[in-house]
Amino acid sequence: MSFSNFGFIPPIGKAISRINYSNPTPIQEQCIPAVLSGRDVLASAQTGTGKTAAFCLPLLDLVANKPKHKHKRNISPDVLILSPTRELASQIEQELKRFSHFMDTNIVAVVGGVSYKLQNKLLKSNVNFLVATPGRLMDLVRQKKINLKHIDALVIDEADRMLDMGFIPDIKKIFECTSKDQQVLMFTATLNKQIEKIAQQFLKDPQRIAIEQENKANKNIQQIAYPVADYNQKKLVLVDVLNESDLNQAIIFTATKREADRLSDELYLLNHRSKTLHGDMSQRERTRTISRFKNNEIQILVATDVAARGIDVDDITHVINFDLPRQVEDYIHRIGRTGRAERKGKAISLVVDKEKFMLQKIEKYANIKIEIIKSNHSTADLSLTYKKKESGFKKKRRSSASNKKNNDKFTSSSKRKKPGFKADVKAKPRRRPVKKNTKSQATVS
Ligand code: AMP
Repeated sequence: MSFSNFGFIPPIGKAISRINYSNPTPIQEQCIPAVLSGRDVLASAQTGTGKTAAFCLPLLDLVANKPKHKHKRNISPDVLILSPTRELASQIEQELKRFSHFMDTNIVAVVGGVSYKLQNKLLKSNVNFLVATPGRLMDLVRQKKINLKHIDALVIDEADRMLDMGFIPDIKKIFECTSKDQQVLMFTATLNKQIEKIAQQFLKDPQRIAIEQENKANKNIQQIAYPVADYNQKKLVLVDVLNESDLNQAIIFTATKREADRLSDELYLLNHRSKTLHGDMSQRERTRTISRFKNNEIQILVATDVAARGIDVDDITHVINFDLPRQVEDYIHRIGRTGRAERKGKAISLVVDKEKFMLQKIEKYANIKIEIIKSNHSTADLSLTYKKKESGFKKKRRSSASNKKNNDKFTSSSKRKKPGFKADVKAKPRRRPVKKNTKSQATVS
């Protein structure tokens, strides 16, 4: 099938050629005709399948062919796209701008963390496409800055994530502010009972589109897990992975924001161009970090799940789960940051004993087999390293009964000791790593 089969208006066809899409992806093949026919759609498709274009392209076509609304008193968009995160919203906004390059379409994103002054400025002119996160949109609707009564289409993107983040009540309120006659498209990476229930509330006789189970984990992504003994061994394996010759850019996922900060600092000391991305950063900082990552000024992003969602950087070769996610769906979202646009990618998980259960859950859920590779850093070596580098004071503490308990929980971030990389690799008397020597030390195991 080719894009010309959809009969898009010429400016859309021109934009598709300009961005070099040769053929529609499976989700686009199924979704575009359904949207063009005016039907509601419930699509389960993972990230990286081309789902953004699957709804943006036909909606652009529909809006271009409709008479323009003129509602002077407040902003009245034609299409409302709801996204769970700011990053995904900005991603959709950028994609829409690329697709409407040859059209006169006004696209605005309203997300939390951006100044109201700036947003009010953007909301002065007529808006065709409004991309929004639920919280900020609710504020603007309450302030009567935005009127949703005349929207022709509502897109709820990443509905499963909306559910996880507790946004469904907000979406219900937003839905109440619409005429309820609009076309509704809902996208989700996972389709379970809860999502079905939500779909029933918003969709009318939707066309169901499911991209097959085998696509849950992109076949272009090689998935590997390294069983490791503890946090320090995770770091040793991580350093090796970061030195792999095929690594171009990487995202490392950690369980907590604190962990992300700490790991990023440690990698920076090892001369890696690393930076954190998490929810404690201001929107400005996050946007700047993502743009620097896109420009390859940052090579390694150490991130938490929410912040990294929606990042679309073609050259990410490695996704590293320093900590496995708490939810299986997040694994799919995480690894979807690599292997994009038909490129090859690697998803590497560093798994301590208590995470093995989650690894099995992921394999079952995604219907995949993750290749288990034994790391070169043997546990015996590692414990030896510990003994060598421990100070007398630490030894004393470890011998007490309460600290034994802590050691059992060594991988829990709150209890974790934090030796520098250099000290972890081979016993050295100095505690702080010296920038120049650390890299080579750390890579020797
Ligand atoms: P998405 O799933 O919407 O996040 O898209 C994943 C990536 O695939 C993005 O980089 C898109 O630009 C790219 N993409 C979407 N549709 C196509 C297509 N038909 N051909 C090639 N790349 C595409």
